[in-house]
Amino acid sequence: MVFTGSAEWHTPASEMAVTQFEIVAERLNLDRNVRARLARPDRALVISVPTRLDDGSVHVFTGYRVQHNDVLGPFKGGIRYHPDVDLGEVCALAMWTTWKCSLVGLPFGGAKGGIACDPTRLSRKELQGMTRRYTAEIRNFIGPELDVPAPDMGTNEQVMVWVMDTYSQHKGHAVPGVVTGKPVEMGGTVGRREATGRGVVHLIRETAKHLNLDLSRSTAAVQGFGNVGSVTAAELASLGVKIIAVSDRTGGFYDEKGLPIDRLLRHLADHPDLAGCRFGEPISNAELLELKCDVLVPAALGMQITAENAARLKCRILAEGANGPTSLEADEILGQKGVFVLPDILANAGGVTVSYFEWVQDLQNFFWSEEQVKQQLQQMLTRAFREVLDLSQREKVDMRSAALMIGIDRVGRAMLRRGLYP
Ligand code: NAD
Repeated sequence: MVFTGSAEWHTPASEMAVTQFEIVAERLNLDRNVRARLARPDRALVISVPTRLDDGSVHVFTGYRVQHNDVLGPFKGGIRYHPDVDLGEVCALAMWTTWKCSLVGLPFGGAKGGIACDPTRLSRKELQGMTRRYTAEIRNFIGPELDVPAPDMGTNEQVMVWVMDTYSQHKGHAVPGVVTGKPVEMGGTVGRREATGRGVVHLIRETAKHLNLDLSRSTAAVQGFGNVGSVTAAELASLGVKIIAVSDRTGGFYDEKGLPIDRLLRHLADHPDLAGCRFGEPISNAELLELKCDVLVPAALGMQITAENAARLKCRILAEGANGPTSLEADEILGQKGVFVLPDILANAGGVTVSYFEWVQDLQNFFWSEEQVKQQLQQMLTRAFREVLDLSQREKVDMRSAALMIGIDRVGRAMLRRGLYP
């Protein structure tokens, strides 16, 4: 393993990301020096984030910002607030973001950040204090030309505005281009909030065409009902797909006749999660994954589909809204079962693609229409899908390997062109 001498990076997520990389690097016959460099991040920050809680005490949270590689452009990547955030997970997510941006053809490198915390247990004041202190601690390492954060699990438009405002206060003027995923009135772009879910669904449509599957007669199950999961479910439902199950961190529901997605969304408008909803039968997150359906969308945590449950999956298409939901062993089992996998770095790339549009608009102070955003998004994702599918057929490899091959190859070639400084 390449992460020698860096035991703190050794977690299941980082092991998985590095092993995936090593397998593809071998297949691509990637330059030995480039390979050694890409197996680890450019920079990894571990930050203490002292935050005053509402009871007057101060709690020191641990935060991270990992910048994997910026050979293609400024670093880009989400900020995650979740109790399980650790250095290894953030390293893995940063590496996957490098491949994702490269695969879609965005002029960005990969980064990721996060704080180990449970945002659902923090008041608005505590969340704001923690976010502002975290931003102040990383302010010298982010910026529109340096590293541009975005929302991820547990963060949202409001958190992005606090990041932007804190950074701008330190600079002395407004710098909207320092983060993406902002509200439209604060320099955000129309269509960013929906972008990841819309992208997932656009790629499911492309896959359905390829497999001759009539989506209006098909069924889907969605794990995670936050930004990505809820938009994916709503967009699929609008295409006539029957959503037979959804879940979030509080559990889920199953109804073979289809769940009323609009009513679930209305519930979420004034509740933090699905708890308190009563539709169909209760179902656990683990049970949801094993339901018979045409499309399964994991849109929550990583490592959900493993050697333990992969053989019991009964879907035709696995569309990875979440990052890293499938282990390496599970991948092999799914391949043998003939499940068509839309791998995370392709399936959820709609988010970073529209983040790119937002960054471009902020730099130019010129804003696009929703139609332009939708059209450009579809164009870029369709091209990436075609490239991945063509390569997977030509090289007789699965879709994940093909996506990684394209992403890693571009970064590797760029590194060789730029050379080693000094
Ligand atoms: P979110 O915070 O909006 O929603 C997360 C959802 O997951 C919530 O419904 C939450 O209840 C649920 N969840 C949390 N813990 C769970 C558990 N143990 N079991 C089941 N469900 C659980 O987050 P999001 O932005 O929708 O991100 C979801 C996934 O999509 C993450 O893996 C993230 O990295 C990935 N992703 C997000 C974006 C984006 O633009 N937001 C882009 C690309 C990938």
